[in-house]
Amino acid sequence: MSIIGRGRSRTHVAVDIDGVDIFGIACLLFIFSYLIYILYYAIGLYELNPFLRPKPLSTKEIHQLKNSIDFLHQLEETELQLFYERTAWFKYKKTFAYRKGVRKKQEVELLISAAAVALTLGMKNFKYIRSVQRIVIYPSDYFSLLNRRHHAGEYNPRLRTAVFSADSVQSGFENTKDNVNLAIHEMAHALCFETRRKNTWEARKFQAGLRKMREQLQDSDFQKRIKDSDYFREYGYSNLFEFFAVATENFLETPKEFKGNFPELYELTKTMLNFDFSDPKSFPRK
Ligand SMILES: [Zn+2]
Repeated sequence: MSIIGRGRSRTHVAVDIDGVDIFGIACLLFIFSYLIYILYYAIGLYELNPFLRPKPLSTKEIHQLKNSIDFLHQLEETELQLFYERTAWFKYKKTFAYRKGVRKKQEVELLISAAAVALTLGMKNFKYIRSVQRIVIYPSDYFSLLNRRHHAGEYNPRLRTAVFSADSVQSGFENTKDNVNLAIHEMAHALCFETRRKNTWEARKFQAGLRKMREQLQDSDFQKRIKDSDYFREYGYSNLFEFFAVATENFLETPKEFKGNFPELYELTKTMLNFDFSDPKSFPRK
């Protein structure tokens, strides 16, 4: 009797342990799956998911870029491939949203992506993770509710959003020597935000350059030289960030003229971006 009793009790204990085990394992599995999901979501949010691989640029896209961007013809093959890879990444990972009436969407996406990558070609971090998540495109100039004015483009750091008029993006690349390029201008704003309070060597170098540029612009002789030369668009005179954005347009479109007219400002911009557009073959700059 006692033997049977002991046997039964052992059986019940075994069943109870199995039940607890199964419940515990199920809970652990649930928690584990949930953590994996959260991690996957976070990686996706920051555009780092290695399973979502961008498609390489097509021959047509490469041809289009070569027709629109002069300095590509001066890059070494390795750097050219880097430019294409990064452009494909940006185009694939960022969210493009269109307002009604935009034509040639693929072309506009490609040009905006190429502008973002051109600015950061000398940098390790080209992804604009903290600064740009969404890109909104209107067919032409639009009315901005933000400041109640008509715009060709704007950058909103709070929403991590850049807004463009497709017409202006395209015309910016049609004339490559007029120092007007909307995509470069807005991405330059984004880059200022991207590097703000970021603890990397290149971000700190960029921000130090921006502070130095502020000092240069506070000098009245320097201000006068800039205004007299008529080389930079007047739009840049409103504040430091507008001046930097305007100066980068000049830096990419007419680097030799920039270097000749304002060597110290050119040198500063070159240090901030770690790239010399007057001599792209010198990449990477020592
Ligand atoms: Zn601006």
